[in-house]
Amino acid sequence: MSADLAAMKRIVVKIGSALLVDTRRQTLNRTWLHALGDDLARLRARGQEVIVVSSGAIALGRNVLGLGGGVLQLEESQAAAAVGQVSLAHAYQSVLAERGISAAQVLLTLSDTEQRRRYLNARNTISALLRLGALPVINENDTVATSEIRYGDNDRLAARVAGMVSADCLVLLSDVDGLHTGSPVRNPDAELIADVHAITPEITAVAGDSDTRVGSGGMVSKLEAARIVLGAGCQMVIAKGSVLHPLSRLEEGGLRTWFHTSASPLAARKSWIAGSLEPAGLLTIDAGAVRALKRGKSLLPAGVSAVTGDFARGDAVRVCAAGGAELARGLVAYDCHDAARIIGHKSREIEAILGYRGRDEIIHRDDLVLTG
Ligand code: GLU
Repeated sequence: MSADLAAMKRIVVKIGSALLVDTRRQTLNRTWLHALGDDLARLRARGQEVIVVSSGAIALGRNVLGLGGGVLQLEESQAAAAVGQVSLAHAYQSVLAERGISAAQVLLTLSDTEQRRRYLNARNTISALLRLGALPVINENDTVATSEIRYGDNDRLAARVAGMVSADCLVLLSDVDGLHTGSPVRNPDAELIADVHAITPEITAVAGDSDTRVGSGGMVSKLEAARIVLGAGCQMVIAKGSVLHPLSRLEEGGLRTWFHTSASPLAARKSWIAGSLEPAGLLTIDAGAVRALKRGKSLLPAGVSAVTGDFARGDAVRVCAAGGAELARGLVAYDCHDAARIIGHKSREIEAILGYRGRDEIIHRDDLVLTG
């Protein structure tokens, strides 16, 4: 896929605290945020789906609580985040509303992206928000995430989100132009690396050398983000965010580092489903469903004749024809109990049988890969 922002369908944009918050005065950079709002509205008007992952809660809240500029204890930063997140969400809401866009606040913890059921819930909610035209604004749920289970930096959170929603591109807006051959601060000869096609030991080494800061948001965490997204078939770009209209500048050929992958999000997801998951159950399907699957359709409850195994919603299951031959694997949209009750029935009967309105498909075609 080409490294062209205009060609991407689903884009995650990560915004660091240093861009949004004037660190000296600890107030919001309103002019910058308005310019970003213009950029986001332009992408959306072009038909692109946009998700923002924004930091800034702690930076905004610490001033209000009189916590000063020094290093905070964990509970102090959590308290600051609780205060600052309100202002942060409000700032996005008003800037986006002026451009006719509804902002949706989503706060995630590490376990929301690591545990399959929570992961699926978060994925489905974010997909629904995009379908309904809202712009999700995501941050870590700092107030409940304790140190051992924290992301701590939004580079990795943004990368997990990009993988989770099968984004085509992750944009990390940073205070540097991209990855350099050395520290751009200490070494004036350090050159920008415009394109990275593989994360080699040399690239890892220069990221360590070029780091100008410790802790969250450094080049090492950005490379970690690249490892996560490239494996999920998502391209990544690091670009300077501190200019006004940073996304327009990126499109106009501004300095940046693109991290390329030849995979696509759907292909990466399908190989993950086919290869790395231990199936927890088995759905046996009739001849009509076999034909439908081979034509690339989803699996509907009506085509399933038997359910075996003890599985939860979102688990991987095998899909076999009546004779027992494996045909496909997929992530099932119902647990084994509910699946057993709806098989053989039309999708419109699901609500009456289960008492809630689940998905029409027992395995959606995006969650299904033919193996036989
Ligand atoms: N979640 C933190 C905040 O909103 C920021 C984490 C980071 O620095 O990336 O303040």
